[in-house]
Amino acid sequence: MAALSEKLKAKVRNRANRLCEYCHTDETWQYVPFTIDHIIPVSLGGTSELNNLALACFHCNRRKSNVLIAVDPETDEELKLFNPRQNIWNEHFSWSHDGLQIIALTATGRATLVKLELNRERVIRIRAEDVLVGRHPPKGDKIQEK
Ligand SMILES: [Zn+2]
Repeated sequence: MAALSEKLKAKVRNRANRLCEYCHTDETWQYVPFTIDHIIPVSLGGTSELNNLALACFHCNRRKSNVLIAVDPETDEELKLFNPRQNIWNEHFSWSHDGLQIIALTATGRATLVKLELNRERVIRIRAEDVLVGRHPPKGDKIQEK
């Protein structure tokens, strides 16, 4: 696979407002730059066009790997993973009122949340610190009422 150009990577990054497009962690405050995810993996025929790329933190990218399908824990139904180019984050997820947990609003959300471990322990600790300094949840994200 040809390396993505810096220009293309910058476009992906800016479009995402530097958020991982799955767990909405802000890259700005992380030690390691986020990765560029091929939503449909190259190994399965995905392209390196903007409409197949997403900004993803290392963990989400690793968990996603070359998987496109995940299981809804409530119904055991197999569903496509949340696709940041086709699905709107706020329609599938919201934040718990304290900003620590991602709440799945749909079957796709539930399947993706489990598959990518969107509420993994380490990221919850980061969210807690970011809430304290007022930089989490990200602007525009839906937050559950108490
Ligand atoms: Zn992530």
